[in-house]
Amino acid sequence: MNMMALKAKDRQPTNFDGLQTTAMVVEGVILHRTFQCACGNDHLNILAGKWPDQKTWLDPVQFTCQGCGASKEIFNSQTDGYDGKLCGGAACLQNPDYELVECPECNGRDLRLKASIFYNIDYDDPRELAELDDDFKAVLGDLYDALGLSGVCKECENEFPIGDWELA
Ligand SMILES: [Zn+2]
Ligand SMILES: [Zn+2]
Repeated sequence: MNMMALKAKDRQPTNFDGLQTTAMVVEGVILHRTFQCACGNDHLNILAGKWPDQKTWLDPVQFTCQGCGASKEIFNSQTDGYDGKLCGGAACLQNPDYELVECPECNGRDLRLKASIFYNIDYDDPRELAELDDDFKAVLGDLYDALGLSGVCKECENEFPIGDWELA
């Protein structure tokens, strides 16, 4: 595991605020997180932009919780991830017309949300990391360079990709 991934283990990226990690699997520089709403409900409605003729979806991505009514944007390639935080946004096709993400098998809309968060970029020298100020160090987990979101359907347990983003 590299330094970035190691740091990112401590705290989920701030764009996912409103959700909490219920399970995390570390696979090299990839952190796989499973989320639930901060209220404890783990079945969410996910809203994202339709991508005509494609099976996956575009950002921005939002969640709403049937349990507590919370609703929040949780990923936007213009402001999140490495290019979003440091380079003014990634070159991703977007569609801000939110629609409910549906299970491709049964059209179910109650989903468990999973994220695969990639940290391929690293600080080569641990001293570089040590010199960063504490505020920046606290949000290093935000500087992921790729993201995959997937849903697990409450009705049929089908796991399917919602989208993949290159962010650096
Ligand atoms: Zn909730
Ligand atoms: Zn389903």
